[in-house]
Order: sequence, then C-alpha cells, then structure tokens
Amino acid sequence: MSDDKSKESLRIKFNQYLEENKLRKTPERYFILDVVSETSKKFDAEYILNEVLSRGTRISRATVYNTLSALIDAQILREHEIEGKKYFEKVPLSQVYIRLICTKCGKIKDVKDSETISAVNSKKYGKFLTSYSTIAVYGLCSSCVNAKRKATLKAKLIAKENNLENKKKILNNKKK
Ligand SMILES: [Zn+2]
Repeated sequence: MSDDKSKESLRIKFNQYLEENKLRKTPERYFILDVVSETSKKFDAEYILNEVLSRGTRISRATVYNTLSALIDAQILREHEIEGKKYFEKVPLSQVYIRLICTKCGKIKDVKDSETISAVNSKKYGKFLTSYSTIAVYGLCSSCVNAKRKATLKAKLIAKENNLENKKKILNNKKK
C-alpha cells in the first residue's frame, strides 16, 4: 500500500472512530494522526510532541496524550512496553482484516473484523506474549455457493425428468 493510500485509510478509520464515539473532529487530532501516519518505526509520546513542535504547530501535551489513547482505542496504534518504557506502533492495516479464502476457486477477500482480531490478540496462551495475529477462514465464496446451488437444482431437475421418463416407460410396457 502506498504512503498516501495508507494515510487516507487511516484518516477514514479515525473518522469512523470519532463519529461512532461522538468525539469532535478537531484539526489537532488529524494533525497528530498525520504525524503518526508518516512514522514507520515505534515511537513514544515525546517523539510526537517534538514532531508537532518542529512543524511549528502548538498542540498541548494533554491533547497529544489524549489523541494517542484515542488512536489506540481506534486500533490505529498499539502500545508496547519495553524495559518499563511505553512505545507506540502503528497497527498494520491488514491486521484488522480477516482473510476469507475460497477452497474452490481460490478467491481471497479481506473483511474488516477488528473485534475478532482484538479478541484473539488479548487472549492469553500460557506465557506466550502475543504481538499480533492473522486469521484465515476457509470455505466457499458467494459465486461458488451460487454455482453449487445451481448445480444441485439442475441435478434435481434431471432426476425428476428421468423419473417421469421411467414412469412413462413403465406405463407403456404395461399397455403392451
Ligand atoms: Zn470461489
């Protein structure tokens, strides 16, 4: 995904989040989101504060912290703790998607399901420390389901016709 495209998807995602949670769409929040979008490594809140300052914008520390926690809530960021220090990292876009794979034609469709993904990510598997997960679901795509339905209907129809033919034959034989 290109930078502009992922920036745009993050904006759409954040927009949805703000709307769903009835939060104000302030320019400060979007400014911070853009800084986050352009960052490819893990970072801390201080980094964002400095970055905001260096771009000549004045955003309060509280707004930066609030926006970062909103971004975590919106599953745009996730928080890590390394040696007692907190870091943020962007959630790869693909990781709020579940992959649907058709076992017949091989078609792949990614559907958004952050709820399931976050449920898996927050689950504890012994002492294993989960960073992220990807989920694939196997089955039949809608076109293959339709094709299967049609094939079944056709088979039933043929069976019915054969049955009628047989009955006719039997009747004709009886007449003879
Ligand atoms: Zn298919």
